[in-house]
Amino acid sequence: MVKKQGGDNYIVYNQEIDNIIREEQKLEIELENALDEHEFYLLYQPVVDIATGKTQGVEALVRWNHKVYGKIPIITIIKTAEQSGLILDIGKWVLKEACQQNKKWQLEGYDPIIVSVNVSALQLDHPDFVELVKKILEETELEPKYLELEITETVAMENVTENLKKMKQLKEIGIGIAIDDFGTGYSSLAYLAELPIDKLKVDRSFIKDVPECADSMEIVNTIINLAKSMRIKVTAEGVETMHQHGLLSKTGCDLVQGYLISKPRESNYIEQKFLA
Ligand code: C2E
Ligand code: MG
Ligand code: MG
Ligand code: MG
Repeated sequence: MVKKQGGDNYIVYNQEIDNIIREEQKLEIELENALDEHEFYLLYQPVVDIATGKTQGVEALVRWNHKVYGKIPIITIIKTAEQSGLILDIGKWVLKEACQQNKKWQLEGYDPIIVSVNVSALQLDHPDFVELVKKILEETELEPKYLELEITETVAMENVTENLKKMKQLKEIGIGIAIDDFGTGYSSLAYLAELPIDKLKVDRSFIKDVPECADSMEIVNTIINLAKSMRIKVTAEGVETMHQHGLLSKTGCDLVQGYLISKPRESNYIEQKFLA
């Protein structure tokens, strides 16, 4: 029932909120079923060495193919999955599936590459996260150096004491750590220098405006120099044009990822086109 609390606008507003909440509850229930029904799958986007074009790794990106509604944009799911806590189960599935696929490629005789997996705040905050990753590596028999975890800059800068401890533990196991969407958060440089990280991923929003916007190019350069001074690698995300690629290779960027190279694709496409 809609309460009459003043002007018509107010009532409409209430109904809208109501609808949004109902939709979110529906999505939550659907998400719970999706894991059991095997409606999730992974796509892989190649990350290549800018100088040689050789595939250094792939980023695993989750997709949901709903039995009735079809493919649903992932960003809406991740948000709901985080709010409801379902991201823990989904994230666990993603991690295992990605490690399994990478091991499978190795067993099939392809040159080993690194698989990168996105980790949400809730996963990293979980007290057993490090143990879980260890267990999955054991189960899938993937060597830790072939797994990289992507933690967004924003998440890395939260709960600094706890996160630093966990990142160090992951690093000790031999897993790679990349800071994702770099440049969009508010990093403390002092803290960043303390993090046991292997890579910065320059956020797509900066690459998008290269070369039209001189400021964006400057920011990209600054991030590349920052990575160099930390003696870690840097990946440019969202590279779409040859022009961007050319400018990035001149600035000393190490790795590129984006539609210019390939959109995220199924594992069999990756092995045909990007593995040797
Ligand atoms: P992200 O980790 O920064 O992933 C990169 C996103 O940029 C992907 O979107 C990819 O498809 C898109 N992208 C790559 N190259 C280009 C390009 O050249 N142009 C354009 N326009 N887009 C490009 P996607 O797959 O929709 O994922 C969006 C975000 O959702 C990811 O951002 C990540 O934060 C999150 N996500 C995806 N899969 C997972 C997952 O398994 N677990 C968690 N926790 N988050 C995930
Ligand atoms: Mg990522
Ligand atoms: Mg990213
Ligand atoms: Mg991003």
